[in-house]
Amino acid sequence: MAENLVEIRDLVKQFPVRGGLLHRQVATVNAVAGVDLDIRRGETLGLVGESGCGKTTLARILVRLLEPTSGTIQFDGQDMSHLRGNALKPFRKRVQIVFQDPYSSLDPRTQVGESISEGLRIHGVSDKDERHERVKEMLELVGLQPRHTGRYPHEFSGGQRQRIGIARALILKPDLVIADEPVSALDVSVQAQVLNLLKEIQGELGLTLLFVAHNLAVVEHISNRVAVMYLGRIVELTDRDTLYRNPLHPYTEALLSAIPIPDPDRPRDRQILAGEIPSPLDPPPGCHFHPRCPIAQGGLCDVKDPRLEPLGGNHQVACHLRVASDSASPITGG
Ligand code: SF4
Repeated sequence: MAENLVEIRDLVKQFPVRGGLLHRQVATVNAVAGVDLDIRRGETLGLVGESGCGKTTLARILVRLLEPTSGTIQFDGQDMSHLRGNALKPFRKRVQIVFQDPYSSLDPRTQVGESISEGLRIHGVSDKDERHERVKEMLELVGLQPRHTGRYPHEFSGGQRQRIGIARALILKPDLVIADEPVSALDVSVQAQVLNLLKEIQGELGLTLLFVAHNLAVVEHISNRVAVMYLGRIVELTDRDTLYRNPLHPYTEALLSAIPIPDPDRPRDRQILAGEIPSPLDPPPGCHFHPRCPIAQGGLCDVKDPRLEPLGGNHQVACHLRVASDSASPITGG
């Protein structure tokens, strides 16, 4: 069996911007701009970046809620990039998503038992008793009571609703679960409970998990590897320990320096990034990060686009200066 469950190559997603009386296309949003990424069987891959970096678009392409503009996605050896209609059905059973907002992702007029079992019905489990049993098992797995099947979403807290969302994603026994910012709408006290639950379930069921977040602190707890995304591209990818111990891309360093430290007396070297993330309507030339990068080199970074390059081991980075020098020097500017 191949090591990678998913292989993404040169994936692009563009959205047209229309305007004027004739509703003509006046611009293009480059939401995902040439992503190469593998997801290994049984791993949790964290995908991190600021709002607007394209991570949610990438997640939605992977569950085929969106069609890619170009590029390929191989899932378990099969190209599913442009499957449509009935051809997508077996794939949908194997890839499920947990949405960010546990409030809007559940139908308020449908009992949770019905919401969770909907996938079973769609995928041909016609026996009502079997569906009922599977829903009860799932509710127990995510830490809720089987007697909750007849309740409505408003009778649950945010954390409990997210558990229901997880149960709904798992009921079809998928191979890949994409968790799209599953804790960002929850109180901090509840976030850890949901993260622990996902980690336990991932280990117990041997799932492959893509965990999308805007915060490196959240993915540290749960990921085996972490990919950092900026303006539609992966800029750094490595295993979790290497990323947190020895980040190489200046953007990753800035994200790491923004993680709060519980001890106020501990000295820290906080790097404040200048400006906002540029618009994907008009990304800067060269390295997309150069207008905000504290070590950008004129004549190189603003002209030449860095590719994601291997630096030995499992570490890949898209930065001219860090690829040129194997021993990265610490950043002092910014
Ligand atoms: Fe900064 Fe240049 Fe590296 Fe881009 S390529 S991250 S601008 S140093």
